[in-house]
Amino acid sequence: MFDKVVIANRGEIALRILRACREMGIKTVAVHSTADRDLKHVRLADESVCIGPPSSLESYLSIPAIIAAAEVTNAEAIHPGYGFLSENAEFAEQVTSSGFKFIGPSADSIRTMGDKVAAIKAMKEAGVPTVPGSDGPIGDNSEANLEMARRIGYPIIIKAAAGGGGRGMRVVHSEAALLNAIQLTQSEAGAAFGNPTVYMEKFLEKPRHVEIQILADSHGHAIHLGERDCSMQRRHQKVVEEAPAPGITPEQRDFIGRRCAEACVRMGYEGAGTFEFLYENGEFYFIEMNTRVQVEHPVTEMVTGVDIIREQISIAAGNPLRYRQDDIVIRGHAIECRLNAEDSKTFMPSPGKISLYHAPGGPGVRVDTHIYSGYTVPPHYDSMIGKLITHGDTRESAIARMQGALSEIIIDGIRTNIDLQRDIIADCSFQAGGADIHYLEKKLGLS
Ligand code: ADP
Repeated sequence: MFDKVVIANRGEIALRILRACREMGIKTVAVHSTADRDLKHVRLADESVCIGPPSSLESYLSIPAIIAAAEVTNAEAIHPGYGFLSENAEFAEQVTSSGFKFIGPSADSIRTMGDKVAAIKAMKEAGVPTVPGSDGPIGDNSEANLEMARRIGYPIIIKAAAGGGGRGMRVVHSEAALLNAIQLTQSEAGAAFGNPTVYMEKFLEKPRHVEIQILADSHGHAIHLGERDCSMQRRHQKVVEEAPAPGITPEQRDFIGRRCAEACVRMGYEGAGTFEFLYENGEFYFIEMNTRVQVEHPVTEMVTGVDIIREQISIAAGNPLRYRQDDIVIRGHAIECRLNAEDSKTFMPSPGKISLYHAPGGPGVRVDTHIYSGYTVPPHYDSMIGKLITHGDTRESAIARMQGALSEIIIDGIRTNIDLQRDIIADCSFQAGGADIHYLEKKLGLS
């Protein structure tokens, strides 16, 4: 096992990684910007290194600064968390060539999955169902493109191969708008991502977002940990997540999960990863793979009992997976509410000092957060300040525990989205389960 790991992230995920390392007897190095000296994990880490000014570009996104921190502290491995450099193939490559272990998949795997056209091709070859579409980049032949869209059937969506974060997409409802939309998306993609390649997919009108968590070791063994439903979204940002996904049968889980695990073995994928699907009328359609740990990983941990971060570290150290597929049993139900420092109605970020923080508790309540009374949320980063996770024998019990936790939690001094979360958990459609990805925006009057 590693002796010492650099945590190349901040906030709740940095603290989560620190906790896993401590449990495993691994020393930790916290790297932080000048705005983040007071982060909880910086105080708890064995060592800390200030890597730059508040701007992420000069700190959490600075490859040389992070590698230098690993060098001066004699660390062996670097955990990238999520966001920042976690899906940057160049970073994975430089970490490796500098003699450290990147806790995640190879640079090649990150690169393939970062190119959506390449990712879809790899999935099709592995037998993972994808959205009907162009099956590759579309060319300049207008007649061929019109014909292809006719075959797929309107509405269709034009997507940039290099797109991400919900950008580089355009929905087309009729033939008259197609050619213009292709051109526009191509030029936008060229400007935004440096790659004008676009492809075409059937636009699914009322899908749910269902994703499969996988773990794969470096010995050709991969398993899935079931699915999560992350359909409650605003501007493509997940707000509430749960596991298992309402209404998914054990047979469906087994079918899609095994295909994802098999795809990992085929690709030589190593580490944790998530296959994201749109789910409509009982069918799964692959849209993309995330090659890192995700914000919502705790709901899967709560229902499987598997510590995903611990497994990531163990896999990176070269150990075989400790689980076989048959060891994975889904127990009960878990829900996660993301807590953001933002206004519940306007969604304006609300950084500042937390004058008082009281954590909720009781059976089945987990709080993953770095905040404390007196902590100042800096204005420079993402507004997520933590996650509230509840687990129960049934979905109803997880909901009841979430309602209890949301009524107990106190965060004073800044505005938060706790009121919004209370509304969502009390919402009839949420309680019924199975709302589609547009539901929350409709409820909020945004679409
Ligand atoms: P990104 O990498 O930008 O997140 P995705 O391919 O994951 O891009 O798509 C982001 C979101 O766009 C999806 O969660 C879904 O809401 C919507 N979307 C993407 N493809 C389709 C499609 N074929 N039909 C309907 N909605 C889609």
